[in-house]
Amino acid sequence: MQVAIDGPAGAGKSTISRAVAKELGFLYIDTGAVYRAIGYKAGRLGIADEDEIVRMTQKTELTIELQGGDQHILLDGEDVTDRIRTPEVSMAASRVSAIAGVRSALVELQRRIAGKSNVIMDGRDIGTVVLKDAEVKIFLTASCEVRAKRRFDEMLEKGQDADFESVLKDMQERDYNDSHRAASPLKKAEDAILCDTTDKTLEESVKMLKDYIEREFEKYVC
Ligand code: C5P
Repeated sequence: MQVAIDGPAGAGKSTISRAVAKELGFLYIDTGAVYRAIGYKAGRLGIADEDEIVRMTQKTELTIELQGGDQHILLDGEDVTDRIRTPEVSMAASRVSAIAGVRSALVELQRRIAGKSNVIMDGRDIGTVVLKDAEVKIFLTASCEVRAKRRFDEMLEKGQDADFESVLKDMQERDYNDSHRAASPLKKAEDAILCDTTDKTLEESVKMLKDYIEREFEKYVC
């Protein structure tokens, strides 16, 4: 069983997906982490040329591991899970993710992981490209201000320096890049349902998605 969850940054995809996956006993995969890892590596090596980034991606060993139920990402054997969660890496991920050669190299990896068990996978092109045949597709969104506020609060909670206006500006820029790129732009799959979490608490959103997924799965289980 495959559940594809797409949507813009800060819509609550990872928090909601992780909670729903836990309740349903599914594997949860956050695909943004693979683009973040490649963006991080390109930045660390100072590579800006697109062809070089593609060659680098093809030679990179990326592994997704579960440690105590949490997803960890290994970049050439090194655990970079925490290091890829900075605003700079978010922007770098958005830049490298627009390169078609990078996407095709990473899509195969994502499909291999999804083939291993019941999975909830979140990203930008899961329902449209990576898991086109997923049994359930959800497009999760919320107003830009609410998404920025959630990201801002999350950063404060982690003790990071945060400024609301720059979080909002980064989010708007990333949304624009992600939905206007030529390669697999962020868009709702035709057969996805639209869920708006602007006025919903986390608990309400988790319940809404879990109930929907369970109802959909009943159609496949006789
Ligand atoms: O989901 P997250 O914010 O961690 O993703 C970081 C960036 O990676 C996104 O802004 C997007 O550019 C890219 N991404 C993508 N396709 C995915 C997941 C993430 O292009 N399936």
